[in-house]
Order: sequence, then structure tokens, then C-alpha cells
Amino acid sequence: MREDVPVERRTYYPLPHPDPAQSRPCPVCGRPMLTPWYLRRDRERHVWRRWVCLNCQAHRDLPEDESA
Ligand SMILES: [Zn+2]
Repeated sequence: MREDVPVERRTYYPLPHPDPAQSRPCPVCGRPMLTPWYLRRDRERHVWRRWVCLNCQAHRDLPEDESA
């Protein structure tokens, strides 16, 4: 289990992104509703972006390498 330091914590769900290019197909339900949610940083200082599917609520973490 990994300890995380939240960068920004949101308790509400994201709204559908106005730019369809920012949404990705959900690996669980297949609908293009995987939407960027919040950032967090792990103990190795890697920054991760959590994405959540607005259709089925599946989520996944993808590396956010902008500030490496
Ligand atoms: Zn889904």
C-alpha cells in the first residue's frame, strides 16, 4: 500500500470536459467518458492524475509528467 500526498482533493465529481479531445474511452464500459479528476503525488514525488469514468465510476491513475 502506497502513501499518497494529495495535491488537490476534490470530493465532487468532475463535470464532462467541454473539449471531447480531453476525454478518453473508458477501459471498463467502453464509453468515451473517462475524464481528468484530481492530481496527487506519491512518496517518490511522481505526480499522478486520477481519471474517472462519468458513466460507470471506474477510475484509474495515469502519470502526469509535465513537471518532472
Ligand atoms: Zn466506464
